[in-house]
Amino acid sequence: MNSFAVLGLAYFLFTLISSGFLIAAFRTQLDSSARYFLFSELCMVISCAVIFLINVNAVAVNGLTIGIPNFAVLASEVAILYSTLCIVKKMNKKWFMFGVIALAALTVIAEINRNESNYRWIITTNAIIVTSLFIANYWAYKHVLLPKFPNNQFVQFLKWLAFGLICFGLIRVIANFTSAPIIPRGEPTTAAMIAFTLFMVLSSFRYMSYIGFRITWVDQFNPSENILNQPLVKAIEEKNQFLRGLIASNRFIGISALASSLAHQLSQPLTTIAIRAETARRDLSPASNSVGTISSLDEICAQSSQLSSLVQNLRQLFGSKIEKFESINLQKVCNEVLEIIKPTLQSKRITLLKQYQSNPIIFGDGVQLQQVLINLFNNAIDSISENNSGVREIILSITNNESYATLSIADSGLGINPMAFESLFELYKTTKPSGLGVGLWLSKTIIERHQGKITGFNHANGGACFEIQIPLNEMGGVK
Ligand code: ADP
Repeated sequence: MNSFAVLGLAYFLFTLISSGFLIAAFRTQLDSSARYFLFSELCMVISCAVIFLINVNAVAVNGLTIGIPNFAVLASEVAILYSTLCIVKKMNKKWFMFGVIALAALTVIAEINRNESNYRWIITTNAIIVTSLFIANYWAYKHVLLPKFPNNQFVQFLKWLAFGLICFGLIRVIANFTSAPIIPRGEPTTAAMIAFTLFMVLSSFRYMSYIGFRITWVDQFNPSENILNQPLVKAIEEKNQFLRGLIASNRFIGISALASSLAHQLSQPLTTIAIRAETARRDLSPASNSVGTISSLDEICAQSSQLSSLVQNLRQLFGSKIEKFESINLQKVCNEVLEIIKPTLQSKRITLLKQYQSNPIIFGDGVQLQQVLINLFNNAIDSISENNSGVREIILSITNNESYATLSIADSGLGINPMAFESLFELYKTTKPSGLGVGLWLSKTIIERHQGKITGFNHANGGACFEIQIPLNEMGGVK
């Protein structure tokens, strides 16, 4: 076996294994760039196989056995060019087919007309076309691929490997004007062995660099573009979402601390106002013709006690850090939340209808349940605010059967987006431009900790409804 046969066999096996890697990496779902690259490898496999067979004298040297490897190398380089270009833009398959057919026709014409006097010119023309394709590939890496992936080391490698292949091509073109043209058959000369070894090494590293490039190409804005890296893109997106969530919860912690300290500072003057108003009210004798003043003082007392209970609720909501499961009255939990959200409802002109059909006692953490209710009310308010037409109303109802208390919040908003249904309670799933997608997930988590369940659905007449079921307290569930 001569040295050409050894090189041919080695390169044949290398290309075959590289194709296997490519197919396995894409799990047979090759995109167009990978398909062109695979086509190029297939051409090289055929080319190497024929060169091997010629050099072990298994087949005769004739127009067919010379033409096939010549054509295969040309087609392989065209495919590499397409593989690069279609990463950046949509390429028309028609032109690829046209190019390959034209090269096939050229090879057939050359081989039919090959004779003693013109074979040097055929070899030279072939070497010039291959070198031109190497130059085209260098251009594509440098001016098409690199601007899009300036930091990808493998694209840099591909560019320099293409440059190396241009050198190989030029050596072959020049050698045709000497007494020993560089062709992969016949007596292996030192120059031919060096040139083809160079070709084999450069091309092999081109395979590796292409796979390396495809693995390290991560475009998180267009994840569909690189099939190979979709899991990585998903992981990056998840990381970004977690980061956004972390920033939001950090903000929430800050606001909680602020609200808690504000509530603490407000409670002192509020108590003073209430006591002073009460004392002044008592000091005024009913007979002193101060009916107006008395009613004003009564109003101050009423308002300040309402404000005190609001502050008390806020302190509880923002200040509570430890879980406290106890017997709680569901109506009371709802009323405390309503105190907090009443001003928002008023400013957004939303009517609240309370439909308390029973007074169930459940076992749970009042503060956590308040958090759930606030999330649901906020979503209902958002949805109604988006819906500019029609009724602006939220219906809060409480019912129960022998084992469960059921609380529902129905709104007259736009209703749940059908696309959002499937992942309604999943973390970070939101349809709002500035939404976080944490509220419903957190609500579900809290309700499940209460052995309950939460569901969301749309009413036939529009608007969404969220229903929570929580087991009644075993020790006398209804008042
Ligand atoms: P966020 O409010 O930040 O989007 P949520 O987890 O609270 O996060 O809600 C997730 C998604 O559920 C919302 O983006 C919205 O599409 C949908 N959703 C929740 N409540 C309602 C509602 N009352 N009406 C319509 N859609 C809702």
